[in-house]
Order: sequence, then structure tokens, then C-alpha cells
Amino acid sequence: MSTPKYAVIDGEIVAWENATVHVASAAFKFGTTVFEGLRAYWNAEDEDFYLFRMAEHMDRLDFSQRFMRFEDAIPAKLVTEKTLELIHANGFKGTNLHIMTSCYVAGMGGPGACGPVGLAITALERPRSANVLNGVNVQVSSWMRVPDNAMPMRVKCNANYNNGRLATVQATVDGYDTALFLNSRGKVSEGPGMCFFMVRGNQVITPHTSSDVLESITRETALQLAREAGYETVERDIDRSELAAADEAFFCGTAWEVTPVLSIDRLPVGNGAIGPITKGLQQTYFDVCEGKIESHPEWRLPVYAGRAAKAAE
Ligand code: PMP
Repeated sequence: MSTPKYAVIDGEIVAWENATVHVASAAFKFGTTVFEGLRAYWNAEDEDFYLFRMAEHMDRLDFSQRFMRFEDAIPAKLVTEKTLELIHANGFKGTNLHIMTSCYVAGMGGPGACGPVGLAITALERPRSANVLNGVNVQVSSWMRVPDNAMPMRVKCNANYNNGRLATVQATVDGYDTALFLNSRGKVSEGPGMCFFMVRGNQVITPHTSSDVLESITRETALQLAREAGYETVERDIDRSELAAADEAFFCGTAWEVTPVLSIDRLPVGNGAIGPITKGLQQTYFDVCEGKIESHPEWRLPVYAGRAAKAAE
């Protein structure tokens, strides 16, 4: 993979290869880092990127830092400014970006170390994956989603992601594209890095936020777009056996966008093809993110125009 010229470390723009953390830091030793994954969508007509729901991602980054009791949490305003600056410095154009904004304990110390806190940002070109367009075959994992009273998935802490790694590796070794977790109550939870939806009749259904899931921004977006398209949305427990009764299913998340689920445990979902409700929501999601339709301008932060406006303030 080709790498961009610059990244941010300790809040400064540096050459990509210099964006490193010390091996003695709590971040390296214990995964004491919280982060956000964001996407910037290129709009060719406007010759600009739109950062999708930046404000909501920054609210969640604030929450994660506060929950982890980080000392001197990095303010959202600074993270936003540095993200815009980094995209600008790299001179990206034409291809969608995936951005990681990480706040990490740079200091030495044990798992209880709370500071000092550093800021790291990377932005990489990442075109839409084939899985998003073609759909995925899913394994219900034999690994359990970590429960809220062990390692809360609501908090976007790096260390949590080893749970998802176990399920992902198992699923791929077994010949699936990805995994779906059940939680400690045996109910459907989420995928390793994305939320789960199913469609039954006119209802678009997703596990509620007490199902050991991340409070996903794309989940909120999909619920809102589904309501706006005239579907009834329901947030409730989903039994494992109910997966076999779904007409359609999809995953959603910043990286996974809206990804159709074709089969679960080798049983086709519905007729095994991408369903019409999933297809429609996917298209609306792309159009909203890319700024191809007018609706929800509040969800799109223009990168180049946004930076110019900031400079003129
Ligand atoms: N669940 C987990 C565990 C995730 O890591 C992600 C990706 N951030 C999601 C769900 C989807 O969240 P979002 O829509 O905010 O990207």
C-alpha cells in the first residue's frame, strides 16, 4: 500500500515515517488509546471532500477520553483542525479517505496511567471495497461479544478490538467474509467493527444500544434514513434463530458503509440476493455522504472550503 507524505503525532504534522510512539508508552503496552475512524468522501463536482458527521465523531472521542479518565483530554476543536490541516498537507484529491484520530497515553507506567495524552492522526486513500457493493457471507461467531461490565464496546478503546480480531480470524479461516457476535445474553450484538440490521416486512430492525454494541454513528444514520424512506424502525433484542426469518440483512459502519449480508452460517438471507430495501438505503447513504443530494448538509463538513472559511474567520 502506498503511504501518504504526512501524518500527525503529538499534535504536529510530521513525515509519515516519523509518526511513531515509544515502546514503553502505556498506549503501546496496554492498548491505552481511544480513537475514531472517519471517512472523507470526494465530490468531483464540488472539487472537495466531505468529512462525514465529524462533530458526532468528536463527541464520541470526548466521551471515550472522559470515560478512560485521560488527563488533559485533547479538545475536539484541535482534532478537527489538525485533521483538516493533514488532508490539506497531503494534497489528497479524487479518492475517498479513511481517517484515524487517536488519543493515546504517551507516558510510561502501568495500565492505570492516565497521561500525558498525545494526538495521532492518519489519513489514507481508501476506495469503496468490493464487499460493500457485492455483499458478505457471515458466520455467527463462537466468540462472545465482551459484555459492558467487562470491556464496554460503547467506548472506542483499541484494546477492545482484540475481541473482534478473534472472531474475524476465525471467520476467515473457516471460509466466511466476516463474523456476527452474540452477547452474554445470547442475543445478536454486532460485527467486529460494524453494526447489524435485519429487515422483516416493512420493519428495519437493529439490536438496541444495551446489546454490547458501539453507539455507532452509521447505525443512527441508517435508522434516520430508513424512517425518512417510510420504513418502521425497531431497536430491540434479536434472537439467533430469528436471523433465519429475515428477508434482508446488512452491516453498517464508517468503514463498512452499508454492506449487504447474503448469508448467515451458510443459510441464505431471504433469497440470497441483495434485498431492495438494503439496496435503496445503501444508495441513499452513498448520496448523502458524497453530497450528491441536498439532504442533511449538517452531516457534511467540507474539507478544502471548510479550511478556507476557517482561515478567513
Ligand atoms: N461497532 C464497532 C465495534 C465499531 O468499531 C464500529 C466502527 N467505528 C461500528 C460498530 C460502527 O460505528 P460507526 O458507524 O460510528 O463507524
